[in-house]
Amino acid sequence: MIVYTRADGSAVNSFSYSQFDLDTDCPRKFLLMRAIGYDEIPRGAALDFGICLEAAVKAFHTMGVTARESFEQSWALKKDKELRYTTNDKSWDNLNRVGEVLLSLYEKVAGRILHEPVFYMDWENRSQRDDFLPGTPLVCVPDIVDWPPRHKRWGGGSRLIDVKTSANAYRSEPDGICSMDPQLKIQSWVMKVPRVAFMVFVKGKTEVERMKGARFTLVERVPGVPIDVGATVVCCAALPKKQAEELKELAVFEVYTEKQQKEYKALPKEQQKNRPPGALVPQKSLSCARIQFIEGRVDEREVEGLITLMRESASVLSRRSEAYRSKVDELQKYAPGLSIDVYKKALRGIMCETFPQRSGMRFPDDKCSGCHLLGHCLGDEKLLEARAVQRSEAWMEE
Ligand code: SF4
Repeated sequence: MIVYTRADGSAVNSFSYSQFDLDTDCPRKFLLMRAIGYDEIPRGAALDFGICLEAAVKAFHTMGVTARESFEQSWALKKDKELRYTTNDKSWDNLNRVGEVLLSLYEKVAGRILHEPVFYMDWENRSQRDDFLPGTPLVCVPDIVDWPPRHKRWGGGSRLIDVKTSANAYRSEPDGICSMDPQLKIQSWVMKVPRVAFMVFVKGKTEVERMKGARFTLVERVPGVPIDVGATVVCCAALPKKQAEELKELAVFEVYTEKQQKEYKALPKEQQKNRPPGALVPQKSLSCARIQFIEGRVDEREVEGLITLMRESASVLSRRSEAYRSKVDELQKYAPGLSIDVYKKALRGIMCETFPQRSGMRFPDDKCSGCHLLGHCLGDEKLLEARAVQRSEAWMEE
């Protein structure tokens, strides 16, 4: 079965979770991106940052270089690129520091997290399961499959690990919550690996005011803080500005270990003012960046419902793409040659005006205002040109 045809005429015969996800997000967006080839410009810095971070983790395990060095080299190439930075990511320099902190931490804890990792990460290394639909395999590209130490291999089995980069920490409770993630479920089904995990590189908050009450990672040893490098402490309150100035630091935090924080919370309100002393830590020694490792186990029987939904989605998508493609062929009879207008006109006649229902809850559920293809849907060419680029434009113009 042909799932869809790209703008250059090549057919796609396999189905994946990302296709399913994009199509259920907005069927029109699917055709605009996959069949016509519209991409977003300029790209958010967060995406490139995540790619550099993942590549550094891979290089650390496979090429014997330090993760930090590898990150610095690849992130340096992005310095002059026009990237969009969010309020939290701020700038290239800020993300550079966050990346260095995260990868220094990773080098310290890697031996405890991964044992014998096999890296996939590239489309060439994809895995597939053929009993999805006749002639249409379900494919996935997992990040890492890790093997436990040899002596435990038969007892423990392998673990499928998805590497994430996130502004905030992932929810880790109740235990095993990551097994609810649909993409991990599908990867687990395709690879037949029930144990799954998220390895999350949390960039954390960078605004000093917003750091109050956040969990921290101690970047360097600080006198008076009885924890090792890489442990976390809890920030209780920032010092008054005057005191911070006296200490010649932009900000100095009073930090509590988790035990102290618990004792503090247990005190009656009036006694909290006379709280037990924490330690003073200069801002440069603290970072909100940290690494989370969240594990779970996927039950194959529970994935069946999702697989059924994906089979239906693949069939509907295939029919819709076929209708779209015949419309393109029909229009080309009257207007020979390839032009982007033909593709856009063809799309108008295709039933993809509704947002399919999907599980989960997101509020506000507004898909359009942040969509880079809004210009297309509003008929505003300037807006479309400002936010999207048509990947195969050169080929179409030839
Ligand atoms: S603007 Fe809305 S309708 Fe148009 S492609 Fe984007 S999400 Fe879909």
